[in-house]
Amino acid sequence: MSTLAYIGLGANLGDARQTIEAAINTLCESSGILTLRQAPLYSSDPVDAQGPVFINTVVAVDTTLEPLPLLDLLQTIEQEHGRERPYRNAPRTLDLDLLLYGTLTIETPRLSVPHPRMHQRAFVLRPLQDLAPALHLSQGSFSALLADCRDQKLQRLVD
Ligand code: AMP
Repeated sequence: MSTLAYIGLGANLGDARQTIEAAINTLCESSGILTLRQAPLYSSDPVDAQGPVFINTVVAVDTTLEPLPLLDLLQTIEQEHGRERPYRNAPRTLDLDLLLYGTLTIETPRLSVPHPRMHQRAFVLRPLQDLAPALHLSQGSFSALLADCRDQKLQRLVD
């Protein structure tokens, strides 16, 4: 039995695009990840963070991993691909968030799913909508949620 999960990726240091692509390749080849579909890449201005523009996307994976082992995998990939830290407490090179895990709601100290801020972030909503336009989010429709964050600058990158 597998579960459809959505993962948000963001990077804003070094060659952010290359970092995202390398992280997706690693995810794709990891055991317990059966299939992976990727949304287009976007660039976004930082929200609640510092530094240069972010590169963002979302992937949909079919996975046999339970939520916590999936989070472990995401954190391992963050560490493998996110080592660049130019100064103490610098913004991280790579951030991977578990956005949705099937229809499950999870509230534990290590893991909150659906991701508690995903519905407020254009850089999550737009690529998620590209991948799954019919998806129903409990906080509202994609169009209503995106209207609420229209101030967040977001640009789709050419392939
Ligand atoms: P961040 O600094 O935003 O990458 O947050 C990382 C921390 O958030 C880790 O300690 C995770 O255990 C925790 N966390 C809680 N819910 C999630 C989630 N849905 N996806 C990723 N990290 C999560």
